[in-house]
Amino acid sequence: MSKHTDCYQCETKLGKIAIGLNKKLLDVNSKRFYCLDCLAAYLEVTVDELLAKVEEFKELGCKQF
Ligand SMILES: [Zn+2]
Repeated sequence: MSKHTDCYQCETKLGKIAIGLNKKLLDVNSKRFYCLDCLAAYLEVTVDELLAKVEEFKELGCKQF
């Protein structure tokens, strides 16, 4: 399992949702994991939009979340 549980930028501890999003939206093999705030900034979207994505993935039956 991944040991990347801190945000690459701000070192915030990452939750399951943040880690799942990183894997979905960024390279699965990436060494850089971002918290929701930093991921939103990186992708130039809002945190709300990210959370909406999570709901979408859940509805698609994604087991990442
Ligand atoms: Zn961060």
